[in-house]
Amino acid sequence: MSNRVINFYAGPAALPLPALERAQREMLDFEGAGMSVMEISHRSKEYDAVHEEAISLVKELLNVPDNFRVLFLQGGGNLQFAMVPMNLLYGDRKADYLITGNWAEKAYKEAKIVAPDNVRAIGSTKDEDYCRLPDPDEYQVDPKAAYLHLCSNNTIYGTQWHEFPDAGNVPLVADMSSDFMWRPFDVRPFGLIYAGAQKNLGPSGLVVALIRDDMLEQCRTDLPSMLQYRIHADKNSLYNTPPTFSIYMLRNVLAHNKSIGGLAAIEATNLAKGELLYGCIDKYSGFYIPHVTNKAHRSVMNVDFKLPSKELDEKFVADAKKAGMVGLKGYRSLGGIRVSMYNATTLDHVKVLVDFMERFVAANG
Ligand SMILES: *Cc1c(COP(=O)(O)O)cnc(C)c1O
Repeated sequence: MSNRVINFYAGPAALPLPALERAQREMLDFEGAGMSVMEISHRSKEYDAVHEEAISLVKELLNVPDNFRVLFLQGGGNLQFAMVPMNLLYGDRKADYLITGNWAEKAYKEAKIVAPDNVRAIGSTKDEDYCRLPDPDEYQVDPKAAYLHLCSNNTIYGTQWHEFPDAGNVPLVADMSSDFMWRPFDVRPFGLIYAGAQKNLGPSGLVVALIRDDMLEQCRTDLPSMLQYRIHADKNSLYNTPPTFSIYMLRNVLAHNKSIGGLAAIEATNLAKGELLYGCIDKYSGFYIPHVTNKAHRSVMNVDFKLPSKELDEKFVADAKKAGMVGLKGYRSLGGIRVSMYNATTLDHVKVLVDFMERFVAANG
């Protein structure tokens, strides 16, 4: 596969090659059906097996207890920003939001539209350009809140919660769009988790959500059907036609993840990738200038740094492209370089990048 580039795009992003090759093999004749999985009814037994396998792989890989439901939703992470408060904030129910980046802020702003008097922003690091996460003594969670919302990984600015905030009995609600399943973690403190698939799980058009039964029971039942978590849960995410091909690809990705040792093995690789790349950045910290100031808050999914000038940033991106690496240009408002290295990025890919960075600093530093 010599014509495949090394893909560091932030999202949609790289998928594991074996998951794509499986799709290629199964494309024209899925399991003897004589057609592709895209062409089959979502009520057929062939598709149903894929749907169930994808759900059970999420549960198995993450060790999800029985009091959680796995949901497949549409509308991206963005619709979840609205659906969460629509379902959970009514009457005098309030929620707290941690503001650690653009996506976290968007979630807060949408909640403000839905329930203007019921949401509160706490612990923002916006004044510091989101270069770190707030420390526990910088925010206080209302013990009566219906939930505490956070974004587990800041895709744009490159921070990541390695230890989740302790909110006591207040359920956590998390946008995990850019790091869901990057490692095993305890889902029990979470009332609801949602993740757009196109970063760490599969193609766009699909949101994977986990909702705890007690949270589900609190959800409103007087919303339009498509906006109700309860209806999607009751219908096992088959209330309407789900994005069947995206769910099929999720199945391929998760089956691959299982075959390489599950999330513990994936975490070890992700940590090794982080050590390698941050090791290079720290070695040349006058040349590769990291955005995130607190090392404990560094994301192993999205790594932001700047070179000493805009011209060098541009040269870095252009030279990397010539060396077979794409997707390194920083986010529009932040500039610089962003390396997105989700589960599908291998340690070898990061080695190629770091070798390139060594040569680049030697030639331009
Ligand atoms: C990309 C991203 C989103 C937006 O997801 P859409 O599927 O485009 O709506 C939301 N949250 C985070 C953390 C993201 O990285």
